[in-house]
Amino acid sequence: MKKLIGQLKDNEISKIMGILSKKYPRATTTLNTMKGNASAFEILISCLLSLRARDEVTNVVSRDLFEVADSPEKLVKLPMARLRKIIFRSGHFNKKAATLKSVSRDLIKRFDSRVPNSYEDLISIKGVGPKTANIVLAFAYGKLVLPIDVHCHRIPNRLGWIKTKTPEETEKELSKILPKKYWRNFNSAFVQFGREICLPVSPWCSKCEIREFCDRVNVGRSR
Ligand code: SF4
Repeated sequence: MKKLIGQLKDNEISKIMGILSKKYPRATTTLNTMKGNASAFEILISCLLSLRARDEVTNVVSRDLFEVADSPEKLVKLPMARLRKIIFRSGHFNKKAATLKSVSRDLIKRFDSRVPNSYEDLISIKGVGPKTANIVLAFAYGKLVLPIDVHCHRIPNRLGWIKTKTPEETEKELSKILPKKYWRNFNSAFVQFGREICLPVSPWCSKCEIREFCDRVNVGRSR
């Protein structure tokens, strides 16, 4: 029987989070693993580079970039042609190069070269959206927030936990139903699960360990 949106039982979420936390006990995504190992500036820049890029590419491109520019001042001084060449592999390199420059200039001008640690200040920077802001807050400053990417948006909707159209709505609705004890591991577990099993197209429902709890909303073809 379909569950009613908003009447999800706590124990169902707990069971799913228990299964996924056991399956993905460690954070392996690029941004998760930067936690504690990188500056807030590096986390912000890697997040901007990661848009529509694979993790392996983001890793290499970030490492190459931070060898020559690990601060807003150095990034602003880096010639545009060189910046484009370094980040070329991450895709959309013209747009990303322009964003990195403008974000760095804004940090220098408005925040004394520091990455702010409040959501409002972060999203006031042109080029920084809600997902990037929450990633910086979670991974650079250890704040208890829910960074929502495409996987974290798609999967709870398929499960029938929520019914939302945008990642921003998802963050709002999830924050009402997901107990806080699961917030730290949520992004890492759902991103890994979304890359391996609950794929955007043709998910592996036949192999899925949480299928008994899933409403498979708008799933279409699966394997
Ligand atoms: S049953 Fe299918 S749609 Fe549901 S969570 Fe598993 S893989 Fe995703």
